[in-house]
Amino acid sequence: MYGKDDVRVEERERPAIVEPTDAILRVTASCICGSDLWPYRGLDATAQPTPMGHEYVGVVEEVGADVRSVKVGDFVVGSFFASDNTCEICASGYQTHCVQRQPGAASGGQSEYLRVPLADGTLVATPGMPDADLVPSLLAASDVLGTGWFAAVAAEAGPGKTVAVVGDGAVGLLGVLAAKQLGAERIIAMSRHADRQQLAREFGATDIVTERGDEGVTRIKELTGGLGAHSTIEAVGTQEAMMQAIRATRAGGHVGYVGVSHDVSLPGLELFFSGVHLHGGPAPVRRFLPELIELIWNRTIDPGKVFDLTLPLEEAAEGYRAMDSRRAIKVLLQP
Ligand SMILES: [Zn+2]
Ligand SMILES: [Zn+2]
Repeated sequence: MYGKDDVRVEERERPAIVEPTDAILRVTASCICGSDLWPYRGLDATAQPTPMGHEYVGVVEEVGADVRSVKVGDFVVGSFFASDNTCEICASGYQTHCVQRQPGAASGGQSEYLRVPLADGTLVATPGMPDADLVPSLLAASDVLGTGWFAAVAAEAGPGKTVAVVGDGAVGLLGVLAAKQLGAERIIAMSRHADRQQLAREFGATDIVTERGDEGVTRIKELTGGLGAHSTIEAVGTQEAMMQAIRATRAGGHVGYVGVSHDVSLPGLELFFSGVHLHGGPAPVRRFLPELIELIWNRTIDPGKVFDLTLPLEEAAEGYRAMDSRRAIKVLLQP
């Protein structure tokens, strides 16, 4: 990423083991994240050319001397921050806030090879080599599915609950899938795009709301006997989306927010009187990886459906354009 509207595919040095806890992966599939669009649109500054990509699956090529849980030849799924998975914060399920957390794994995944720090804590091996049709779903687990899942868990989606989902990008759509898996009774997806509404329904949405902002809130209230949703997933990160999520939630309900916050500021008095729980942030995908891999492996869920465009890695720039213009929901890059 060179800056606004400027993505180039270039030869870089092949990564090598630096720390004895590192692993080197041959990346078999990577993808473009909605969060990659913030710098692409110039909304996050890019000071210098930055290797992109934090969602990846691949085969372990090499491990450092201290790596124990993954070995050369394993097919692995990683999470977007490297974590040791042993400190108190990791043990409590918040690996994205690990005391040793490193964004190392969060940079350079859109490539042929990737160095992953803290490999034992960060990577999870699949039961074997996956069939080709499982690869997109396993790739989704590395961020968008894990993030949508965390949002649903943070929003306390579950049996008997009505879940509203703000945002129809890949994370919001997989938040729908997660809410369904967690047993939600009713799932209201907020979307104005026919193709995304269709996928939301396939993933388990029972209602679609096309209105946004205050009108969207009114519509959710109408659908929930005037009370609002029990659980709301916020998967956008803007002021409008966050306020829409809070206002669409009933008193005592929960908002799970996973859209990377951009200039969101919360009015304290409104929050005070809302009686709504807020929980979210960068999803601890690593917490959920073993469970998600199992659900994908036994073909219970098919989150890979969010990838509606696959391109060779060399055409990454076209992938960014397709996502930026919303021609594609999510782009898979094949090295
Ligand atoms: Zn991502
Ligand atoms: Zn940790």
